[in-house]
Amino acid sequence: MRIARFVHPGGMSFGVVEGDPEAGSQALTVRAINGHPFGELDYTEQRFALADVRLLSPILPSKVIGVGRNYAEHGAEVPKEPLLFLKPSTSVIGPHDIIRLPEQSHQVEHEAELAVVIGATGARRVDRAAAEKAIFGYTCANDVTARDLQRSDGQWTRAKGFDSFCPLGPWIDTAADVSDVEVRCEVNEEVRQLGRTSQMVFDVPSLVSYVSHVMTLLPGDVILTGTPAGVSPLAAKDVVSVRIQGLGELRNPVAAR
Ligand code: MG
Repeated sequence: MRIARFVHPGGMSFGVVEGDPEAGSQALTVRAINGHPFGELDYTEQRFALADVRLLSPILPSKVIGVGRNYAEHGAEVPKEPLLFLKPSTSVIGPHDIIRLPEQSHQVEHEAELAVVIGATGARRVDRAAAEKAIFGYTCANDVTARDLQRSDGQWTRAKGFDSFCPLGPWIDTAADVSDVEVRCEVNEEVRQLGRTSQMVFDVPSLVSYVSHVMTLLPGDVILTGTPAGVSPLAAKDVVSVRIQGLGELRNPVAAR
């Protein structure tokens, strides 16, 4: 099932995206639900063509946890434990929202990533098996990073935390098998990153379990699982696209602040 959050003439709703994405977005519809998408869905009578609504970030997380250096790189040392950092909830934007380049940085880069969304039960000190049960679904993310500030600050709060630095979407897929899918990033239709989730150093259940032993994961919280090789700078007027096999495409234009 694919869960979106969207604006329609009557307001804002979560909804279920129906139809075959392979047939193009024109063929997709979204069926609105009442309330939140965790647990039993309460369908309304409202159904919209996807082309007629504006998609929002599919979830508003209480926190976004990032994982650094989680893809094996040739010649680089493999970390012994996941390296965690936080992105503020205010960095989250949706599909087609603008990534704003802050005046404090001269090197803002894309990081295409698989995002994990935590489900209704949350997760606290769970093992791998319970971690899998705690996952609601998956979506595409861009862990936008001010690389120069990441280097100069010595820690990552500012570099990772600007408003608009966490595009999420287009929807949450609750049934996907993400153990070995392609992660692709294009800037202005040119491929910059191309990897597979099977190249992760720590897999998804391990990451959820590891994070849950540090902080309680609440429903809707998001874990970004790291990025494959190929990160590169973004400039005003670029359009950056993150595409994960089976999960759809997340596109965002880039503009100066
Ligand atoms: Mg990252």
